[in-house]
Amino acid sequence: MNVPNTLRQPVTTLTGIGSRTAANLEKLGIRIIQDLLFHLPIRYEDKTRLYSIAKLTAGMTALISGKVKFIDVLPRGRKSLICRISDGTGFIDLRFFHFTAQQHNTLKPGTTISCFGEVQFGYAGLEMVHPEYTVISSSDKAITESHLTPVYPLTEGLSQNVVRKAVKQALAICDDNAQALRDWLPDAVLKQHHYPSLAEAIKTLHAPDATITTEALQSGSVPALKRLAFEDLLTHHLSLKLAKHKAKAWQSPHFATATYSVATKPFINALPFKLTGAQLRVMAEIAADCILPHPMMRLVQGDVGSGKTIVAAYAALLALAAGYQVAIMAPTELLAEQHYRNFSAWFNDFSTQIVLLTGQVKGNPRKEILQALGDGTSGIIIGTHALFQDAVNFHRLGLIIIDEQHRFGVHQRLALRAKGQQGSTRPHQLVMTATPIPRTLAMLQYSDLDISIIDELPPGRKPVTTSVIPSERRDDVISRINNWVGNKKQAYWVCTLIEESELLQCEAAEKTAERLKVALPEVRVALLHGRLKASDKEAIMLAFKNHEIDLLVATTVIEVGVDVPNASLMIIENPERLGLSQLHQLRGRVGRGSDDSFCLLLYQSPLSDNARQRLGILRDSNDGFLIAEKDLQLRGPGEVMGTRQTGQVTFKIADLVRDADLLDNIPTVADTLFNDTPEAVAPLIERWLGHNPDYSEV
Ligand code: ADP
Ligand code: MG
Repeated sequence: MNVPNTLRQPVTTLTGIGSRTAANLEKLGIRIIQDLLFHLPIRYEDKTRLYSIAKLTAGMTALISGKVKFIDVLPRGRKSLICRISDGTGFIDLRFFHFTAQQHNTLKPGTTISCFGEVQFGYAGLEMVHPEYTVISSSDKAITESHLTPVYPLTEGLSQNVVRKAVKQALAICDDNAQALRDWLPDAVLKQHHYPSLAEAIKTLHAPDATITTEALQSGSVPALKRLAFEDLLTHHLSLKLAKHKAKAWQSPHFATATYSVATKPFINALPFKLTGAQLRVMAEIAADCILPHPMMRLVQGDVGSGKTIVAAYAALLALAAGYQVAIMAPTELLAEQHYRNFSAWFNDFSTQIVLLTGQVKGNPRKEILQALGDGTSGIIIGTHALFQDAVNFHRLGLIIIDEQHRFGVHQRLALRAKGQQGSTRPHQLVMTATPIPRTLAMLQYSDLDISIIDELPPGRKPVTTSVIPSERRDDVISRINNWVGNKKQAYWVCTLIEESELLQCEAAEKTAERLKVALPEVRVALLHGRLKASDKEAIMLAFKNHEIDLLVATTVIEVGVDVPNASLMIIENPERLGLSQLHQLRGRVGRGSDDSFCLLLYQSPLSDNARQRLGILRDSNDGFLIAEKDLQLRGPGEVMGTRQTGQVTFKIADLVRDADLLDNIPTVADTLFNDTPEAVAPLIERWLGHNPDYSEV
């Protein structure tokens, strides 16, 4: 590749890096010297100026110096060593909760020290807890540094000092060899935005000089930082573009057009409804893809309830008709089970076996499924991600369908590419999502895909009437359920909680279910959450579908794929905790039948202004795209892409909120690079995504 040899040397060629340090660095993705240059600081310490103690205020982090006035161990509160220093303008206490006798000795009264730390309010005025300090000769002033001190991301066993020293050496190598770091950004871009050169930008970020403030770096206004953030974002986009480009080198399973109408006509005629124009259009786009010599890479975006599943079934039909197998992946067992029921009904007349494979299928049943896939008896396999983690061997896999793709990461999707590969042939891929991603963000997530949009709901759907209600009115809501169920209708009660803790979420749902059972003795209440056994979940869902249950108390597991038309009331507790798109998805569980449907957002007061505004958007709109756009405006792209879509895209330096202004420019610059300097693409990817195994495929 194009990086000159010096920067391609392993880090062990630097002084002070042995095999143990190298192993630790490798955990951070750092193998060669160039990797150190792109290991950028997360923040900075400012030791460039010495503050007089009188100028200190709580909250600042500062370098000071002074003479020790007294030192003592105080038993008050938690035992600690207190050392008071003064520089003539005032005094401050240094507090150590962990200390040694030697420390006590070194900091004798009269000793001059310099120290660096965060200033806080203490018992007797300002103090620093566990500051860094150095004893300095009495007449000397503290030594200020000429540059801000970088603070690097670390891993266990690595210290800041080791990384700082290594980076310094790497920077010195760059200084000696101006050609070492090739700048791939077009000159026009550098000029237009007044960006510094790559080498300059890298140097500035590792060692900003004293004229740059930590605040400016934090806010992202420093041109060096902007430039690197731009390159970072650009490279992510490029990697997806490259993936798309490379897909053209793969052969696709051949689906002959001749079989299309023979197979699909009876199937479509047998459906209990008429397909919408949008569904038909997207089906045609898929059919056209499947006869091309390269694998289809298509994303189908469509609001909740727009009928994506039948479109996927149509694609599956094309594959089956051509004698290929189909794998369908869903993010939850609940959804996989529902697809399994639907597909089993739709493909009833087809002489092929349909199987369900989740993490819970073990032992002999699992063996039988794997066998049937291997010998081709099974034409369709539906499952969770367990589908692809296992040594599942297909007889002749022709199509991979990923439902609710936003619940999987972009990395997972890229990693899936190679599955089902036979020689130079790879299966067609269809991914589906209900979460519309605004265009600017789509380019960082979906640039490798062609996009189809189902922009029409099946006829007769009534919008869900949504109300925003404070938790003080909980009792009213509960009595409303009583009337509702009295009218032979069903309802959902959704408990939300901090997304990270499934356990807590389940516990909260359990408690709520217990309370509702007590409050509603006439109502048949059941509980559904992610930690139940698959067979129990299925039994509960079936009972709810058959109206043997009136009120289903559930966690957000029901967000995707639950379809019970008679349930047309949904209460969502603490909706303020969730993103709007997620709430919209949840709400999509109601409004599936001919009844008027209602969604009650039972919030915990007081509500912040922002939360009030967000819930208002949901109340006023049933349009998923509009809701996603507004959510983006109110929460910023980092939140929209980040929070619940963990593992999506991680950047070295770019911050989607701070650097949102850079996004617009990226597709054009990417096109220029791709066409004019294609040789830039691989080095850029190596630089920014380097040893990320998820992209090794790319
Ligand atoms: P989603 O796009 O959210 O995955 P589904 O595929 O689950 O939506 O479809 C929602 C419901 O609408 C299902 O009950 C499905 O059978 C039904 N449906 C799909 N297409 C149509 C249509 N053209 N007309 C009427 N109902 C439809
Ligand atoms: Mg769906």
